[in-house]
Amino acid sequence: GYGCPGSSPTTYGLICQELERGDSGIRSFCSVQSSLVMYPIWAFGSEEQKQKYLPEMAAGRMIGCFGLTEPDFGSNPSGMLTKATKTANGYVLNGTKRWITNGSIADVALVWAKLDGRVHGFLVPTTSKGFEARDIHGKWSLRASVTSELIMEDCEVGEDALLPGVSGMRGPLSCLTQARFGICYGAIGAMLACYDEALSYAQERVQFSKPIAGYQLVQNKLVSMVSEITKAQLLTFRLGRLKEAGKLKPQQVSLAKRNNVYWAREIARDARDILGANGVTDDYQCGRHMLNLESVYTYEGTHDIHTLVVGQDVTGIPAFDG
Ligand code: FAD
Repeated sequence: GYGCPGSSPTTYGLICQELERGDSGIRSFCSVQSSLVMYPIWAFGSEEQKQKYLPEMAAGRMIGCFGLTEPDFGSNPSGMLTKATKTANGYVLNGTKRWITNGSIADVALVWAKLDGRVHGFLVPTTSKGFEARDIHGKWSLRASVTSELIMEDCEVGEDALLPGVSGMRGPLSCLTQARFGICYGAIGAMLACYDEALSYAQERVQFSKPIAGYQLVQNKLVSMVSEITKAQLLTFRLGRLKEAGKLKPQQVSLAKRNNVYWAREIARDARDILGANGVTDDYQCGRHMLNLESVYTYEGTHDIHTLVVGQDVTGIPAFDG
């Protein structure tokens, strides 16, 4: 419905994979648009909100961004300071969100803010009075993706801005589970791009008496890549099937995000190494993937935070605090 193709989770994952084979920034754009903004409108929005936003967003005529992180609250977003206050005609928002993908190109910002102490989602048109987006410059990573700060100073929105179907951290966390599912596949795209480049380079580059692909140490790196790519593919294949059966748990997504992005980062570095000095130039892509993956390792829950999520699932003891 709502102008969307109705494809399966596995299809969505494979689309993320192929977009990230090109660049993690392009996949980030897609993750935000679909998993972080369209999904919550579909899951928690009113019928009017769905009719207004989903067909336009599905067609790419309207762009969304997702404002959860704040300057002082990254891994612990529940501490957020952004506040919503009820007024006669709607709500007034005050606060700052940072590191927001698509921030300055968005038509609508899904801003998570506390209303009477509880987290709620607000669909804020970016033309609203009191709303401003400022781009963050100088990134070494995800240079193809816009990242911004959102500043809301007495930002006025109507009654219809509130997402009625959810309150508490379940709202933003359920969106993140959707996006992380796509990232698990996306990381494989980056791995494949780096592996393909390293393999073809190694087959052509002659040092000493033969192509470097003929040396055992280089083969060891290529075989590790094939091995980790295959394992990551099997993990995501299983995740997709579990999601299609309605049985997927967030902890399983954490396990796969943690694993696949970790190995994508390792593979990008090994590919860069195989390319020697050429690997540090932008004539080749592995250096770009390597730097992009630093952001992917940190956003949507850092590697270590996912370790703690899985650790809690395994032991029953949360290790986030204290
Ligand atoms: P911190 O939370 O300060 O963490 C710093 C380090 O401390 C990390 O290594 C972390 O693992 C570690 N750490 C923190 N707590 C613990 C603990 N309890 N135990 C052990 N170690 C701990 N956010 C959005 O809301 N929307 C977006 O669209 C968005 N896009 C982004 C795009 C980019 C390019 C980047 C880089 C970030 C983006 N983010 C976005 C923000 C991202 O989600 C946060 O950067 C991430 O959650 C980590 O928060 P932080 O950077 O404040 O790091």
